[in-house]
Amino acid sequence: MARGGYGGPMKFDGFETLAIHAGQEPEAGTGAVVVPIYQTSTYAQDGVGGLRQGYEYSRTGNPTRAALEECLAALEQGTRGLAFASGMAAEDTLMRTVLSPGDHVVIPGDAYGGTFRLVSKVVERWGVSWDAVDQSDAEAVRAAMRPETRMVLTETPTNPLLNITDLEAVAQIAHEGGALHVVDNTFASPYLQQPLTSGADVVVHSTTKYVGGHSDVVGGALVVADAELGERLAFHQNTMGATPGAFDSWLTLRGAKTLGVRMDRHSANAEKVVQALEGHPSVRKVFYPGLESHPGHKVAERQMRSFGGMVSFAVHGGEKAALELCERTKVFILGESLGGVESLIEHPGRMTHASTAGSALEVPSDLVRLSVGIESADDLIADLTGALEG
Ligand SMILES: *Cc1c(COP(=O)(O)O)cnc(C)c1O
Repeated sequence: MARGGYGGPMKFDGFETLAIHAGQEPEAGTGAVVVPIYQTSTYAQDGVGGLRQGYEYSRTGNPTRAALEECLAALEQGTRGLAFASGMAAEDTLMRTVLSPGDHVVIPGDAYGGTFRLVSKVVERWGVSWDAVDQSDAEAVRAAMRPETRMVLTETPTNPLLNITDLEAVAQIAHEGGALHVVDNTFASPYLQQPLTSGADVVVHSTTKYVGGHSDVVGGALVVADAELGERLAFHQNTMGATPGAFDSWLTLRGAKTLGVRMDRHSANAEKVVQALEGHPSVRKVFYPGLESHPGHKVAERQMRSFGGMVSFAVHGGEKAALELCERTKVFILGESLGGVESLIEHPGRMTHASTAGSALEVPSDLVRLSVGIESADDLIADLTGALEG
């Protein structure tokens, strides 16, 4: 990838280099090394229709957002990135761009709750049918395909049980059926896995999570391989207008710069926490794709750089023990969301996944989910084992 850089054109394509430089050349006028926050809604024109650098109105385009979009496209090895006000705004725009009444969608059996709500409460009303399928078995996706299936949406690892889907196998099945393969890459981040290189057509992100990485901004993104699809999505991005402001774009871009080093630490800390939990008498079962006993381990090893910072585990003593544990940790903060530098703990059955109660997607009541942060691993382990011992 050739870009203008410091003192002239330079070539770079390493992940960490792209994170820090893609779309982020020093500003032409002042030389500002960091992309400025272009806090403006509109742009002066040199004569009617005479745009200076292609910008006319900030819903349509803003230089801070454009820098983020170019960076995200580079990190996912796509041709076009589009930023949104949230992950859900990105998904909504995608679905209303590529789906029409009569179409059918396949989603994960344990889809992110907001995705399930969007499909079942909003998109369905619009004449689109859907099936939720356990995609850890690619053949189950094949069985769910119909002549009118236009989209297969995959999450891997899933939430909260960290199930793994074979990205190459599902992309092939989707394409054989004439459907787009869309991958929500929020949990892995582009540092750990790049679904477009496995054949996916669209990557979705809640940049609120690992890409932003500091729990200080809500945002979303789409990245595509195909330029024509990118154009159609950009048309809808502008038409629907669920775009992020300049400051939110700037915060997200600042987070993205350190994605690689953060993910290395998230994964390393999670592996140490998993080891400590595995040997603990109060723990019934640990769910982590890095464990050889995890059914998706081999596939995860093939398609992920490391296994990420999300860990779930079930405790002895049922729901009561799980709830007490969540309220006893001191370093792990009790809260929803994930992917920030600080460690979080939560009870999926009562919190993030409460809406699945009584459905086929109901999560075990003795389950606890961790978003392992980048604090000192020893402190995290001491906090958890102390809380487990009461
Ligand atoms: C959080 C999340 C979303 C939704 O993103 P928002 O930024 O909260 O709108 C979508 N998918 C996954 C996997 C998520 O974790």
